[in-house]
Amino acid sequence: MPVFLRKTIAVLASTAALVVGIAPAAEAAPRVLTYNSNGAAEFKAVVDEGAKVWNDSVKNVKLVKTTGAANITIVADNGWPRAQPTTLGNGRVWMGRQAVDQGYYPPRIASHELGHILGLPDIKPGPCSSLMSGSTGGIPCKNIYPNASEKARVEAKFRPSVMATGEWNNQFVDAG
Ligand SMILES: [Zn+2]
Repeated sequence: MPVFLRKTIAVLASTAALVVGIAPAAEAAPRVLTYNSNGAAEFKAVVDEGAKVWNDSVKNVKLVKTTGAANITIVADNGWPRAQPTTLGNGRVWMGRQAVDQGYYPPRIASHELGHILGLPDIKPGPCSSLMSGSTGGIPCKNIYPNASEKARVEAKFRPSVMATGEWNNQFVDAG
């Protein structure tokens, strides 16, 4: 092997070792929540947009689309948009046409309702910069993103606990 090649390999190896050495401890995987929007009719695309908003905004939870059994079921109907969380991260969202017919922005409705499933209450009245201000942000409001405090609240709710990140199903045999 030519000397220069050996040197190159040695440099690459030490670089790799350095990268491994300074890499931060692996972060816990986000909690994955599935959503099924089969019944969301004309709102399927905005539901995906709302899920992406949350995936881009927080790291402790991740929304993944499915066509089967899901944590979150999303449907369309003619009422007001609403959400019914059953437990944190589980429940049902109605993409109600009544608000859309009045001019409210559908992608904001989707991310707002998903915010309820992620454990956030309505924060009304509030400015457009707040996602959970909902309709009180005004009909022209097109902000689809949670603000810093809304993001922090969701991150805190889905913070991986010591229990969640421990090693499970191992037997700790304390034989004498
Ligand atoms: Zn709401």
